[in-house]
Amino acid sequence: MSTTPQYDAIIIGAGIAGMYQLYRLRELGLKVRVFEHGSDVGGTWYWNRYPGCRFDSESYTYGYSWSKELLQEWNWKEHFSPQPDTMEYLDLVARKFDLRKDITFNARVSKATYDEAANEWEIETENGERARARFLITAVGVLSATQMPRIPGVDKFKGISFHTSRWPKDEKGFGGKDIGMKGKRVGVIGTGATGVQLIQEAAKVAGHLTVFQLAPEFCAPLRNAPITDDEMAHIKENYPEIFKKCRESSAGFMHNFVMKSVFEVSDEEREAFFEYLYNRPGFEKWLGNYVDTMIDPRANALLTDFMARKIRSRVKDPVLAEKLIPKNHGFGMRRVPMDTNYYEVYNQDNVTLVDLRETPIETITEKGVKTSDKEHELDILIYATGFDAVTGSFTRIDITGVGGKKLKDKWADGPVTYLGIGGHDFPNFLTLVGPHNGATFCNIPRCIEQNVEWVSDLMKYMRDKKLTRIEPTVKAENEWTEHVAESSQNSLFTKTDSWFMGVNINMPEKKRAFLLYAGGAPAYKAKCDEVAAKGYEGFEVR
Ligand code: NAP
Repeated sequence: MSTTPQYDAIIIGAGIAGMYQLYRLRELGLKVRVFEHGSDVGGTWYWNRYPGCRFDSESYTYGYSWSKELLQEWNWKEHFSPQPDTMEYLDLVARKFDLRKDITFNARVSKATYDEAANEWEIETENGERARARFLITAVGVLSATQMPRIPGVDKFKGISFHTSRWPKDEKGFGGKDIGMKGKRVGVIGTGATGVQLIQEAAKVAGHLTVFQLAPEFCAPLRNAPITDDEMAHIKENYPEIFKKCRESSAGFMHNFVMKSVFEVSDEEREAFFEYLYNRPGFEKWLGNYVDTMIDPRANALLTDFMARKIRSRVKDPVLAEKLIPKNHGFGMRRVPMDTNYYEVYNQDNVTLVDLRETPIETITEKGVKTSDKEHELDILIYATGFDAVTGSFTRIDITGVGGKKLKDKWADGPVTYLGIGGHDFPNFLTLVGPHNGATFCNIPRCIEQNVEWVSDLMKYMRDKKLTRIEPTVKAENEWTEHVAESSQNSLFTKTDSWFMGVNINMPEKKRAFLLYAGGAPAYKAKCDEVAAKGYEGFEVR
């Protein structure tokens, strides 16, 4: 008899999705085990603890909405919560709902295999631990497969060096360790949302900071501030209204596009509105703008011009300013990094921008970074080079479905999914926030809750009806995959290269395909609800 531990469901990952899924399945009375790579809960917020790491979502729209008690107990300290506070919050959740007892930490799942005869999944961790369950639920995150650059010599550097998502822990375990950047020669490669957050902090303390930039992003002001006691009391009173607003918005935020064209208003009115939004906190200037700025290239060009002028006004050296202005995409066509004083950093004497389009990196050396013109000597070198986005956290696990079919092969030309929650040949395999899922372009916890609740209802349905196997049909997954492509056609996201499109300079083998769902969170939820109401239409359930 097998001694492999047996569960009703195994969840991979103890981030925001995995924690809530565990709670909900336990409430249903299921025997559940979570396997987590890290040594604690938190997922994204556990791994990303570099200085400056914080929400780009309003904090009070980000927390879990399912426990009234938790909502009243927790006080957010800042409008955009810094990472250590978020970890403190998630620690409170884990303690309050006693989640850790059902989580195996330091256990990276490396293999998951469907056993047709037993109708069970067997997982194996890197440490060789095995477990079996009828259902396998992934909560592996969209941006968790760390991607180092493919530059010669990355292992040669003798100073302190790591990827931003591997920043060491501080003593308390919530935040990141002080690695001693003060007065040192610090180098950062990468200027995406992560690099931008880190660079602002590093510039405050480094003796000299060298930023290695390939292509710049359009950043926009976050406008963070502390939350006063009065504000927090008001937020607590208004949680139902806040969450309602998020539910009704296209991407789960408090912001919604203005249903007007930039061309319907005068030049003065448009400029004044852009200026108003620029002074507002968070993503409003992106997701609360005129609706055609994200659909019509001519409308986007007007907003892009406004944002470029803002960069020019913030950077003193006009030549440098031009290097910081993207020329290959418009504002909001890629994920917008939020900044506080990012552009002003380049007015400081202790900061140098190395434009890698002019002087490419040739190699990493023992002493630093060798570009085509010189060797930049450094004490610390940080890689803010991003992730094998969306699909990487799946394809780095050896996932085998019916008849030995590999998920990696199925997705070789881009993901093929039904609702971004499952795929044919992979029965009882449910992917929270998987590729093509409505939660991928969303204020993520808002849509995570929708995903988790839908999966939990499915689990209850199957238990009540004594059903044991669910698998999307080929027809349903083809239709959904086509719908994902069609619904992104109008969006400017597909007109440029970014991680949304699966483009990663370090992964030339990755096929260009839209990995998210651009139909909007309300439409996605309506579709999922309809599928459930029709007895899980599009799935073969038995
Ligand atoms: P990213 O957006 O993919 O940026 C990676 C950066 O590294 C880019 O500037 C890229 O240049 C550069 N790079 C990659 N390989 C390189 C190489 N070989 N040589 C030189 N430069 C190289 O990754 P990220 O900044 O970690 O952000 C990823 C996503 O995480 C964000 O878009 C966002 O969704 C999320 N995030 C969220 C928050 C938040 O909510 N607060 C904070 C941080 C990140 P190219 O673009 O030219 O390839």
